[in-house]
Amino acid sequence: MKTPLFRWLPLLGLLLVAALAVFLVRPPRPVPASAPANEFSAYRAQRDVAVLAGRPHSLGSPANAEVRDYLLSRCRELGLSASIQDISVLFAEKGQATAAHVQNVITRLPGRQPGGKAVLVLAHYDSQPHTPGAGDDGAGVAAMLEAIRALRAGPPLTNDVIWLFTDGEEAGLLGARAYAADTARLRREVGVALNFEGRGNAGPSLTFEVSPQNGWVIGEYARAVPYPMASSLFYEAYRHLPNNTDFTPLRQAGITGLNFAFVNGYPYYHSPADTPAHLDLGSLQHHGSYLLSLVRHFGNISLAHTKGPDETFFNPLGSWLIHYPAGWNMPLTQLTISLLVLALALAHQRGRLSWGSLLGGLLAWVGGWP
Ligand SMILES: [Zn+2]
Repeated sequence: MKTPLFRWLPLLGLLLVAALAVFLVRPPRPVPASAPANEFSAYRAQRDVAVLAGRPHSLGSPANAEVRDYLLSRCRELGLSASIQDISVLFAEKGQATAAHVQNVITRLPGRQPGGKAVLVLAHYDSQPHTPGAGDDGAGVAAMLEAIRALRAGPPLTNDVIWLFTDGEEAGLLGARAYAADTARLRREVGVALNFEGRGNAGPSLTFEVSPQNGWVIGEYARAVPYPMASSLFYEAYRHLPNNTDFTPLRQAGITGLNFAFVNGYPYYHSPADTPAHLDLGSLQHHGSYLLSLVRHFGNISLAHTKGPDETFFNPLGSWLIHYPAGWNMPLTQLTISLLVLALALAHQRGRLSWGSLLGGLLAWVGGWP
């Protein structure tokens, strides 16, 4: 018997799953400052964001020199000595040349077995000229400082971890380009790189870029991260946009790595309103949850071979991550199309196929994409 309610049940079910899927795309809850010392707390990191993003601090400005000095003193407080890569950069692209003087702040957390390849963590400390840059990229920088503190509270890792606070990102990735200029040294020293960015001030931190031949790094990521939000589709979309981050010169140098950014609150991006008070602490916590779990993981495994056949990956619901060899994509697509054709043929045979329902199904499928 077909009651009207029964007829609408599949649609109601679909809507419920769609609503749940949207609801679950959110960052983890910020951890309070009273949390154990070896955990990452967004409330602790927030104190650094407040200083770092007190006012606009673009490349070469006195305010940026203050941020540089603050980073040096914070590293000292954390028991590490930091150095400055003080260098002039000349960069030309598409007929436009940029020359500038950058000062990258670099520190190293020594591992128990020095000599192997290191983990490289980076975020840029300069801001765009008209914004204090709490989300872009104060959150990334503060997450690094809080992670160093949490790591120092635990047992040492096996591998070295290099912490690179780049300068001049907003002027054309100048600090990262300077760091990556010596490609041979970079490949010798660095096994895997993690870059943290902000393109807004809220929402989950998405793993939006993965280096090519991602099989190894995605497998390890899936093992290590407690709250993964990633999709091969993000990268396919990002690849076709004229956007670059500090990860670009590293990827071009052949370094394996992952790139993270939160993208909600886009109107705050490069705006005077990108202030510490407006930053979503959930986004900061999410940066930290990746950072700490991945540095602990990559810090304790061999980084000698970090490439593998490409994988496809996505979150069907919340932070549940599915990943499988990209080679399965074609057979899976063929299977899906065969099942669709079979369903259409069966419906036609039983006289249940109508143009209205076909169109409705198509619209629901297209509507399901966003
Ligand atoms: Zn940025």
